[in-house]
Amino acid sequence: MSADAIEILGAVEAAGPMVVTCEHAGRLVPPPLVVSEADAAWLATHWGWDIGAADVARALIQHTGSVGVLARYSRLVCDPNRDPSNPTWIRERLEEGGRAHDLSFNQDLGEAERQRRLTRYHQPYHDTIDALLARRLLLGADVLLFSVHSFTPLFGDEQRLMEIGVLFDHYEAEAVRLADGLAEQGFTVAMNEPYSGRKGLMYAVHRHGTHHGVAHLEIEIRHDLLHSPQACEDVGTRIARALEVLGIGRAQS
Ligand SMILES: [Zn+2]
Repeated sequence: MSADAIEILGAVEAAGPMVVTCEHAGRLVPPPLVVSEADAAWLATHWGWDIGAADVARALIQHTGSVGVLARYSRLVCDPNRDPSNPTWIRERLEEGGRAHDLSFNQDLGEAERQRRLTRYHQPYHDTIDALLARRLLLGADVLLFSVHSFTPLFGDEQRLMEIGVLFDHYEAEAVRLADGLAEQGFTVAMNEPYSGRKGLMYAVHRHGTHHGVAHLEIEIRHDLLHSPQACEDVGTRIARALEVLGIGRAQS
């Protein structure tokens, strides 16, 4: 059910400075889809979800008194951070480092199944962001739409050395200030790395930020920094402090 596939964090009426989104928070593959043993091995990796991202989002929401939404279904069911017209919205095949796997639950999908996933998973998630943002804007326009993700330190042969990437499209000045704040918190930061926010890869916050005319950024955290709940809490706290340079965020500790 779509209600299980989506989780709202914080109070819907929260007046905090952000609406936080986490498109790859979980790795649920709800029935009637069936996961094979080989699928499960890939689902457990960064292909299935963003390891640690949900816990960082929780910490950020708590520290800033904000509201947020998590997509708990796997991006491999359908990716809430891609436009449904994008070929990677539903992936049939995963490939990395010379290995490949055909996902059993994504083979030979008909239009009806694609439509079912759109209606049951993709659209409710985006409707929730839209509703939370609209409600938050009634309380005052100073809001940042902020998306939290994590990335794998080693992708095939590519070693990624930055600890945090700040992704942006229209809001470069805000992105630079956030990056400065993150560097002050001791993180190694890169701009629009390991992916560019200008290539349709921050679809969710771009879509809703543009629609509502609010600043929107995405953050990518290297997931070896998020190896335990305590580590996620610590990283979330430091990001909340860094957000203070944007004039938003109220870190409690
Ligand atoms: Zn992600």
